[in-house]
Amino acid sequence: MRRSLIFSFAKTISRSFLKKPATLMYPQVERKYYSITRGRIFNDIDRCIFCGLCQKKCPTHAITVMKETKEYELRSLQCITCGACVDVCPPKCLSMEINYSVSVFGRDEGAYYYKQSDKTEDVKKPD
Ligand code: SF4
Ligand code: SF4
Repeated sequence: MRRSLIFSFAKTISRSFLKKPATLMYPQVERKYYSITRGRIFNDIDRCIFCGLCQKKCPTHAITVMKETKEYELRSLQCITCGACVDVCPPKCLSMEINYSVSVFGRDEGAYYYKQSDKTEDVKKPD
């Protein structure tokens, strides 16, 4: 019993020596994303009709649509990338990108803010 256990450990250790590390030196080494990666939600704000359907459908209440002022806020740290908002959007101005990079210190910093009137896009967008 003890011998087989030692043999098993030795096998695992020798296999690990031959493998590359499972982690990346992020952000120095950029991560490669797959085409099916569920990333951040992007709003092409000039096509938004402020119907509010995405806000109603969002299971985590990550979206706030302000119809009167034509503003839109998406709190990405609340988003679980389910894609429900993208599916329900009538003019299809919402899309899911394949990158997901939110490196922030506070909850508020992870929010994307859009305003239609002056065509300001994503003032809090991280790099
Ligand atoms: S992807 Fe899902 S969780 Fe994220 S904002 Fe859209 S509906 Fe909400
Ligand atoms: S569902 Fe689409 S059109 Fe309607 S408020 Fe959301 S982003 Fe705008």
